Amino acid sequence: MPVDWEKIEEKWQKAWEKARIFEADPDPKKPKYFITVAYPYPNSPQHIGHGRTYTLADVHARYMRMRGYNVLFPMAFHYTGTPVLAMTKRLKEKDKELIDTFVHIYKVPREALKNFVDPLKIAQYFHQEIKAGMKRIGYSIDWRREFTTIDPQYNRFIEWQFKKLREARFISQGSHPVGWCPSDGNPVGQHDTQGDVEPEIEEFTLIKFDYDGYFLPAATLRPETVFGVTNMWLNPEVEYVKARVDNEQWIISKESVEKLRYLNRKVEVVESLSGKELIGGKIKSPVSNEEILILPADFVDPKNATGVVMSVPAHAPYDYIALEGVKKEASKLEEYGITQEAIDKLKPISIIAVPKYSPYPAADVVKDMNIQNQLDPSLEKATREVYRHEFHNGRMKENTGEYVGLPVAEAKERVKENLIKTGKAETMYELINKPVICRCGTECVVKIFQDQWFINYGDPEWKAMAHKCLSNMEILPEELRPEFNYVIDWLHEKACARKAGLGTKLPWDPEWIIESLSDSVIYMAYYTIMKHIHNHNIQPDQLTDAVFNYIFLGVGQPNEVAKEAGLNQKVLEQMRNEFSYFYPLDSRHSGRDLVSNHLTFMIFIHTAIFPETLWPCQIVVNGSVLMEGQKMSKSLGNIIPLREAIKMFGADPLRFAVLATSELLQDADFSSTLARSVRDRLERFYRFAIETVQAQANVKDGKLTLTDRWMLSRLQEHIKTATESMDKLMVRKAIHSALYALDQDFQWYLRRIAEEKEVPKRKSAITEVFNEILDAQVRMLAPIIPHICEEIWGKMGKKGFVSLVEWPKCEEARFDIAAEEGETLVRSVLDDTLNIIKATKITPKRINYYVAAPWKWKVYLKSLEKSVSERIVLSDHMKELMTNPDLKKMAEKVARFTRQIIDEINQMPDDKKSRQLQVKGLNEYQTLKETKSFFEKELNAEVHVYSEEDPQCHDPKKKSALARPYRPAIYIE
Ligand SMILES: [Zn+2]
Repeated sequence: MPVDWEKIEEKWQKAWEKARIFEADPDPKKPKYFITVAYPYPNSPQHIGHGRTYTLADVHARYMRMRGYNVLFPMAFHYTGTPVLAMTKRLKEKDKELIDTFVHIYKVPREALKNFVDPLKIAQYFHQEIKAGMKRIGYSIDWRREFTTIDPQYNRFIEWQFKKLREARFISQGSHPVGWCPSDGNPVGQHDTQGDVEPEIEEFTLIKFDYDGYFLPAATLRPETVFGVTNMWLNPEVEYVKARVDNEQWIISKESVEKLRYLNRKVEVVESLSGKELIGGKIKSPVSNEEILILPADFVDPKNATGVVMSVPAHAPYDYIALEGVKKEASKLEEYGITQEAIDKLKPISIIAVPKYSPYPAADVVKDMNIQNQLDPSLEKATREVYRHEFHNGRMKENTGEYVGLPVAEAKERVKENLIKTGKAETMYELINKPVICRCGTECVVKIFQDQWFINYGDPEWKAMAHKCLSNMEILPEELRPEFNYVIDWLHEKACARKAGLGTKLPWDPEWIIESLSDSVIYMAYYTIMKHIHNHNIQPDQLTDAVFNYIFLGVGQPNEVAKEAGLNQKVLEQMRNEFSYFYPLDSRHSGRDLVSNHLTFMIFIHTAIFPETLWPCQIVVNGSVLMEGQKMSKSLGNIIPLREAIKMFGADPLRFAVLATSELLQDADFSSTLARSVRDRLERFYRFAIETVQAQANVKDGKLTLTDRWMLSRLQEHIKTATESMDKLMVRKAIHSALYALDQDFQWYLRRIAEEKEVPKRKSAITEVFNEILDAQVRMLAPIIPHICEEIWGKMGKKGFVSLVEWPKCEEARFDIAAEEGETLVRSVLDDTLNIIKATKITPKRINYYVAAPWKWKVYLKSLEKSVSERIVLSDHMKELMTNPDLKKMAEKVARFTRQIIDEINQMPDDKKSRQLQVKGLNEYQTLKETKSFFEKELNAEVHVYSEEDPQCHDPKKKSALARPYRPAIYIE
């Protein structure tokens, strides 16, 4: 009968809620564990991808609870920012794509959609939707601490945070370039763009080439190459304009006009002209005064900076390939009045020497990568490669004037500085990962923002503190640590406020609203007091700076602070208490995309505001979820909202499926086939549990056999692996131990005891083993599939919730190596016998096993012992063995036997050696004798066991002499 997941899950969710078992309050008798996961933006329902991050955090919380911690796992909702505003705007414009997404993917009822003209209504709708999903999937959240980031009390908390940052001089104001949406009139960050891309800004140098009284400002990231310019590139198909830029006359692409205006340049367009009109013209180099020809090139993008490009074919692959192209088709240039002769004269000018390259590195790389034309996408890679080598290893050559001999890295800065100083160049900010599209659909630009407020993550002393915090943190997986170090070094001033959107006003300049990556960095602290704010109906104006200073920093006298704020002193002290109990934050979970922003900001801001003892302790980062091998996206229509997926597969199977197939950083590949097979597997587990519970033993005090002891020893091993894996949140490995590997052993155990199950004397012991396995398994799986585990726990007649019982302990004392080695022997003898039967195709009537003689064991163990410290050499080893008089008497036999085993022993893995040495010789005869009936049943033949030197031995084919320790000789009749 299939399991009714929905019924079981809802039953236990109600029971948990009723018993309030996930509500955590300070308990001085218990160690605490405070775990949070990035609070969600309520602008869409959560899907399976979110499900992975939040489920992992929940599994972690549940695991720590079972490890005896008082676990606080709270949740809130991040309303801050502009995404819902952008949605409202698009809905007003009747955006079909968005409406389709809401109706068909997110399943928003038409009724609710009507309210979405109000951005707040969108946030509230998805807030409730997400919360319902989190409850339905069984997250062990303390919901008493829920809040939104636009609650007035939370606004007070963020104001306090910003005042603290300003006091510490980490807030600055000034003009800086920011990514900008022209339509919204707002700076944009990762969360405001389609596809969540962070706008990346670079500073180009514009080198001004004289053209008949106008400047052609060529945009470059490599000003030092100006000495190698052979020609200029313009795109004949592009519209250029003559324009007055501040006090100069420039010729630039039409597209660059608006961009320069955003960079605070005064630009007046005089007339427009096509690229064609300019080609064939001559300009003058600002460094050599030489005449340079303007040539046509398709790769010139009018949207990139000024749309004017200088050509340095020796060191720029794009230029090299374009010049080659022009040379091949010089006749086509006649329409521009360019002669074959003029083209023939153009030769790359080498100005940088790089070890291991010819004078023309661009040509080398173009050849290596077999690039054929100027629209080849590998040109990007080629450009980066040349740049990397030249920047790190290149030196300027003698044709570069005063820069000769300088490393390229240094020359780059000096050339730029000098050109700017002499009025021959200026700079222009530009996005280098274009196009970056705002969520509203508009393409973003760079804007120099006046009087913008910044958090100065560039401050060197602050960076040092962030590094210190990181070095004391656990990062899971550890391989991400260098990435965090890199981000800490790389971060600089970050715009922290906007003119629009939901959120908290900047306390000293209320025209500004604090943006979403800046109001979400220390809110974990706020969870600890939220419960009291709610219970005592504390008003925003009671949450004064002094109140926060007392609660979070222990500053001030509680009686005075409380009186001043109109708060009950006891309540104030409770808040301080609760914060002190739960802080610092023990674990922070999030998806990988937040490493370069949120997670690193969290580290920075904690070090700026809190003393070192309250800095966060751990970060856990997980990869994303693929759907049937593909990235989830709206356009592919493969986004399944979490609540839909729960309906389809059940909460437990879904939790299991998103965690069971991949470790932390890997992408998890989800599919309905996977979810269904997981569900089937879990249903089998459930049925096993129910059968085990129903089997009652009538006889007590069953004695455990070797096989029983083996099974229980294996159980310890699996508990050990699962525990070690969970400690590192290697959940896939933990699941593998607790369910699959354990089950493999269990299947063998079932086979071994098949005959004995009905023997009354054995029944009791076997039931005991079953119960012990089930008990451990239910506990180990409870964090992952809590509902079904609660159900089984109840059926087992256990008291209380499995969610709160202790995680099983691995008892080292119950490891039984002798039993494990004995069972290994049984299994390998069975396998060997079956292989012989298969190879010889005989139907066995009688099977004879001959176990090795005691002297062979003596030689075997001595050899094993010796091989622990060194590789055994036969001749030396023989000499040593011959010092033993008993062995000396049979020298020839010993030599033959030793030769047989020596290679195998030399190659044996260390752990196997150490196990065999611990057992000090297995009693093979007895082990096989006791297993006789099992063999007879499995092999359907008479089985006899002899010792090799037994004079009564039935050995017609003289097989017994082949017996070796752990490898009895076999003779089948
Ligand atoms: Zn926009």
